[in-house]
Amino acid sequence: MNMNYTADELAFRDDVRTFLEEKLPADIAAKVKQGRRMSRADHERWQQILVKQGWYATHWPEEYGGVKWTAVQKHIWDEESCRYGAPRSIPFGVNMVAPVIIKFGSEEQKQHYLPRILSGEHWWCQGYSEPGSGSDLASLKTRAVRDGDHYIVNGQKTWTTLGQHANMIFCLVRTNTEVKAQEGISFLLIDMDTPGVTVRPIITLDGEHEVNEVFFDDVKVPVYNLVGEEDKGWTYAKYLLTYERTGLAGIGASKAALSHLKAIAGRQQKNGRPLIEDPTFAQRIAQVEIDLMAASISNLRIIASVEGGGVPGAESSMLKVRGTEIRQTITDLSRRALGPYAQPFVEEELDLAYEGEHLSDEDGAALSPQYFNMRKLSIFGGSNEIQKNIVTKMILGL
Ligand SMILES: Cc1cc2nc3c(=O)[nH]c(=O)nc-3n(C[C@H](O)[C@H](O)[C@H](O)COP(=O)(O)OP(=O)(O)OC[C@H]3O[C@@H](n4cnc5c(N)ncnc54)[C@H](O)[C@@H]3O)c2cc1C
Repeated sequence: MNMNYTADELAFRDDVRTFLEEKLPADIAAKVKQGRRMSRADHERWQQILVKQGWYATHWPEEYGGVKWTAVQKHIWDEESCRYGAPRSIPFGVNMVAPVIIKFGSEEQKQHYLPRILSGEHWWCQGYSEPGSGSDLASLKTRAVRDGDHYIVNGQKTWTTLGQHANMIFCLVRTNTEVKAQEGISFLLIDMDTPGVTVRPIITLDGEHEVNEVFFDDVKVPVYNLVGEEDKGWTYAKYLLTYERTGLAGIGASKAALSHLKAIAGRQQKNGRPLIEDPTFAQRIAQVEIDLMAASISNLRIIASVEGGGVPGAESSMLKVRGTEIRQTITDLSRRALGPYAQPFVEEELDLAYEGEHLSDEDGAALSPQYFNMRKLSIFGGSNEIQKNIVTKMILGL
């Protein structure tokens, strides 16, 4: 495997850098770099800039408005956009439901939904988990019963990320109770404005509203919105999860967070010297940097195998585990670097417009909330314990 970029790849990287320098709005980059609150409008503004450039739907075939990037080009984009402070795309529409619709949906569904994902008219959320059905997803109970041209849906979903902004939700629903759990599930697209859909906020440890509960009470969904075949939803759900987990490794984001950590540790003082010169702290930074380099090489190896025609399977689970552990370590060290300044939490400081006094340097305000928020990484997208089970079975053959 060649670890160096080719001349074409280096030229592509230059194009990416020029684009980010010219088109990434400075206020949005500042928010991302300082871990401030991003509004829905910020996400939508950046999405439209990417769509105009033709760089939004990087997993889609060109015929539907995607871009034909190689795995290496996607990797370059990920690294550079994180380095410049570009927001990550909200994945539920563009990177999760769209690939499923493209592979398993009807032509009508493609024509209807894909342009609306690009235009931003549809904001999607993911209705997989239920109370009691997270890791054991196949035990889900939300029921969809066929009634003529409609399904009548009843049940509850939970942990629905950014569901408060969404007008569409893709759901796993039980359509058959007579067969094995996995064989009676269907993949349904539901308009959240339909009567009977209720969204309630869940406020997390960092005080933010990021996740929700979604209730379905006799919700009428046209059969037209069934993706693929009835009772075959488990296959489509698993296809979607592979996309979800590969993106969750977050190597580019961890590299950006590591350089932020180093900058903070360079400014903070301990015993009259920059913290970064403290042997114990320096050793901890060095360890996580080594781990990140190793994960980055694994990422490149998987990319090389994809370029050679391979399909990532358990490797995406492996990367998810290592990538999320590393990110959590970096957020922990960043919070520690601030010492006692990490204790008080002035929520208003998360807004870029905040003009009050800063307790530590401006970049410090978000470090504790980020530490708490990033605890989620080892849980969502399939918890790390479950990913380790997959790795032991599929790679180690245990
Ligand atoms: C912030 C956040 C956002 C989320 N966003 C969404 C979303 O938008 N849409 C959505 O559908 N879901 C979402 N989820 C749900 C997420 O996918 C589930 O939380 C996850 O699958 C774990 O399920 P659970 O919470 O029910 O935990 P459980 O399955 O109850 O697991 C509890 C613990 O037991 C361990 N465990 C369970 N079974 C095993 C086993 N067989 N072997 C070893 N260990 C095991 C788990 O690893 C975990 O540590 C989100 C979750 C969080 C925290």
